[in-house]
Amino acid sequence: MRKIAFLGTGIMGAPMARNVLASGIAVAAWNRSAVKAQALEEDGATVAASPASAASGAEAAVCMLTGPEAVDAVLFGAEGVFSAAAPPPIVVNMSTVPPDYSRALAARVGERGATLVDAPVSGSLKPAIDGQLVILASGPEGAIDAVEPAFAAMGKKTVRCGDAGAGSAMKMMINLLLAVCMGGMAEAVHMGRRCGLSTEAMLDVILSGAVACKLFELKAPMFRSGEFPPQFPLKHMLKDMRFILRTADEAGAPAPAGHAAFQLLRQAAGMGLADNDFAATFEALAARADRD
Ligand code: NAP
Repeated sequence: MRKIAFLGTGIMGAPMARNVLASGIAVAAWNRSAVKAQALEEDGATVAASPASAASGAEAAVCMLTGPEAVDAVLFGAEGVFSAAAPPPIVVNMSTVPPDYSRALAARVGERGATLVDAPVSGSLKPAIDGQLVILASGPEGAIDAVEPAFAAMGKKTVRCGDAGAGSAMKMMINLLLAVCMGGMAEAVHMGRRCGLSTEAMLDVILSGAVACKLFELKAPMFRSGEFPPQFPLKHMLKDMRFILRTADEAGAPAPAGHAAFQLLRQAAGMGLADNDFAATFEALAARADRD
């Protein structure tokens, strides 16, 4: 693999594109707010003026964007990937989107003579920087094989999930667990504080026992400092929970803990915390406790 277009160089996209560049694959980067793509120039990326110009001559166009509206605009908009004279044969969507959107997207990309690899990622900012994401790939095997060198640069493993849509369904599954676990940690630490326990002692107990996990390790500094800088912005988890609850409903799968996590995220967003990390649901609990 010699060259890819990287469309969307935000919190996740920038470090992912940097790791692709470091592996020796050329990257033409584009971001709606140009300054974020320009930051990749010193890493060797070419900065493109539009998705179409980034995609020209690339073997694949990789999208790492907010969600369906952004993916639609970047692929099918006026200066989108498919307005290029010679669009790439493969589109890789790594943004988190619902499975039904991915299935429809595979058909729309196919109508334009290209193949979709639906490949969202598990892992947030630190794994993205470290090239340790888990890539949840779905779509035709040959297309996944073709982009595997880029996946190997961004992730520690690629899990092949099935036909396009299955990668997105896997992402719904893991983010449901993520939201519920995060909500659980916030609720437990908040209750402990109300009982007069020290945060440091609680974190020691959480990280020493059977429930210790990388998520709790990553978020522990936020509970220590009371600051929630965005690794995974709360607004994105809220967006994901809407997709997840719809997916669960369509699948006939009850998601009671997911609904509780969603309500807490919504409350936190209503308090102006949408741009904080999703661990900031802790603040929503504190506000609820003060109110009740
Ligand atoms: P982010 O920094 O907010 O990046 C979002 C990107 O989408 C930015 O490049 C943004 O451009 C672009 N965008 C939004 N609307 C657009 C539009 N209408 N047209 C063109 N571009 C548009 O967020 P992120 O954390 O990197 O998230 C990217 C994706 O990864 C999301 O689907 C998220 O759910 C998923 N994800 C995130 C994490 C995480 O921990 N952060 C982990 C796994 C998966 P601007 O810069 O111009 O706003």
